[in-house]
Amino acid sequence: MSGILYLVATPIGNLEDITLRALRILKEVDIIAAEDTRQTLKLLNHYEIKKPLVSYHRHNEEIRKLHLIEKLKENKNIALVSDAGTPVICDPGEEIVKEAIKEKIKIVPIPGACAFVNALISSGFNTKEFSFYGFLSLNKKLRKQQLEKIKNETKTSILYEAPHKLKQTLQDLEKILENRQIVIARELTKIHEEFLRGSVGQILEIYPEPKGEHIILIQANEERKENTEEQRSIEEQYQYYEKQGLTKNEIIKKIAKDRGVTKNEIYQMFL
Ligand code: SAM
Repeated sequence: MSGILYLVATPIGNLEDITLRALRILKEVDIIAAEDTRQTLKLLNHYEIKKPLVSYHRHNEEIRKLHLIEKLKENKNIALVSDAGTPVICDPGEEIVKEAIKEKIKIVPIPGACAFVNALISSGFNTKEFSFYGFLSLNKKLRKQQLEKIKNETKTSILYEAPHKLKQTLQDLEKILENRQIVIARELTKIHEEFLRGSVGQILEIYPEPKGEHIILIQANEERKENTEEQRSIEEQYQYYEKQGLTKNEIIKKIAKDRGVTKNEIYQMFL
């Protein structure tokens, strides 16, 4: 029998934001695998938890992953934690989860704080449909493609950014977003928690030297969304008449009449 891989959410700043279950699991497991052992040690000391702690980060993930899988196969229970918040979101945890699934090892998530969820619920933007980008790529070509996608995104976009790169990212966004509204969720759950709302230009003006941890949320491209919805509804209308056995010309004529527009306008929409 193998042990269990627990994915344990830890606080994103305020040490009180940890669940009773997470504390119990951290006390019960055999090993805690942490992205940054010094950071996790602060949390463990605060809650007087003493456990073997091993590092699992981007630079040792290949070797450590195999080592941890071996331990799980030896029936040891492991808690995976990240620097802050929910593990596996934008950290190397994804690899060990994939490997554990391959090896048929049981995975148990222990829910708790997640930075982007708290930023999203406080943003006032659409929470039903959103695209989480994590960190933008540093590769110029990929970054350009991502920025283009964000420009046309019909859902709320969510980005993580390292403090020292925030200004550059905001400047890149300013070029594509014009007056679209954004929200910067800063230092969530910490003393200097705040939300900055406005266009990128306005935010850069009032907040030229970013400090601390940030999440950038970008409002959906509403204009494009309306067009897409309009397009979708015309297509549905088209299919409705098609099922009644009408020809293409007849359908266009019907739709134009239903909508009180010319046939040509409907043709243009299809194009
Ligand atoms: N696993 C984490 C989660 O639950 O979302 C995120 C880890 S990711 C490597 C780190 C990024 O999350 C930071 O660069 C920042 O964008 C965001 N972040 C983490 N804590 C934050 C906080 N307290 N306030 C604002 N952003 C935070």
